[in-house]
Amino acid sequence: MVKSLAALLRESGAELPYVKSRPLEIVEVELAPPGTGEVLVKIESAGICHSDLSVLNGTRPRPLPLILGHESAGVVVEIGAGVKGLKVGDHVTSVFLPSCGTCIECRSGTPAFCSVGATSNSRGEMIRGGTRITFNGQSISHYAGVSCYSQYAVLDERSVVKLPDDIPFDVAALFGCALLTGIGAVRNSANAKPGQSLGVWGLGGVGLSALIGAVISKASPIFAIDPVASKRKLALELGADFALDPSENLRDQLPAGVMVAIECAGRADTLKAAYEATGRGGTTVTVGLPPAAEMLSISALSLVSDVKTIRGSYLGSANPRFDIPEFVDFWRAGNLPVEKLLTSVSPMAQVNQAMDALQGAQVVRQVIHPN
Ligand SMILES: [Zn+2]
Ligand SMILES: [Zn+2]
Repeated sequence: MVKSLAALLRESGAELPYVKSRPLEIVEVELAPPGTGEVLVKIESAGICHSDLSVLNGTRPRPLPLILGHESAGVVVEIGAGVKGLKVGDHVTSVFLPSCGTCIECRSGTPAFCSVGATSNSRGEMIRGGTRITFNGQSISHYAGVSCYSQYAVLDERSVVKLPDDIPFDVAALFGCALLTGIGAVRNSANAKPGQSLGVWGLGGVGLSALIGAVISKASPIFAIDPVASKRKLALELGADFALDPSENLRDQLPAGVMVAIECAGRADTLKAAYEATGRGGTTVTVGLPPAAEMLSISALSLVSDVKTIRGSYLGSANPRFDIPEFVDFWRAGNLPVEKLLTSVSPMAQVNQAMDALQGAQVVRQVIHPN
């Protein structure tokens, strides 16, 4: 049994600002020892992602109480029975969807669609069933099989990818969600080709990662669309050719529209704008998670007459075991400026303030240090 300070969420939908209502309470939880195929990880860095905020504010209901956090990097400190390929001292990044390796989706080479992992995630359980976290004797749900707003976390070995020791933890933390989701949307879901025009709507951690993916893919020209001026400025630094406010019409710059449109804002109206800016024969990829009640309204005719494709992309339609090691190579070559996405680094005690800042939409990616 390991004791760990963790940010516990008992109820969603607290009043803003969270710094006053304090929905995330730092408490000491107890973690069961890692079971078969599981590891105990000391969490060094954890990202503040919009999906965590969506659980906090209630737009994405999850079993409560739970420990949030699904984007992290840390060090393996204990291994359970039967763990192969990981040892104590290994640096790892977490992946927010464990893939079972045996379901039809996994066997078809699309672990991002693993139905077994998706089911355990929605139940707030580990992929092998049950939870490993208790607080005052009460069972606490896991979030996405990770629950990294905690000094320590029990993770299934299929929820982590081993990294070289020289990757800074704050960089490595972003590999498993922001980068996998954003870069994967461009490369795997849209299959963007060199010379294709591309637009990214919503310039948070995932959106700017998609932009980095567009630069790596040599898309051209690249448009970046967001209402926040500082994010547009950063997008231009990262390689966008045009940075537009949503009130501006992309087709004023490129009358044919873009061949690839990546929506990362998680809003149906933004998805509509991205679809309408998608040119003939183009593909609109949506990555953001809108509230469940939002409906998308588009011209039904245009889908056919303009031969367009709309695709959803979850986990960047990626295979984390192949994609994350490639990110390491990109980072070493200077092509993955992850440090530029980091707005702030704070202790875990400031997690409520960090959620306020994310809600305010002025930040790109914040990380917290639980230890
Ligand atoms: Zn995330
Ligand atoms: Zn599977």
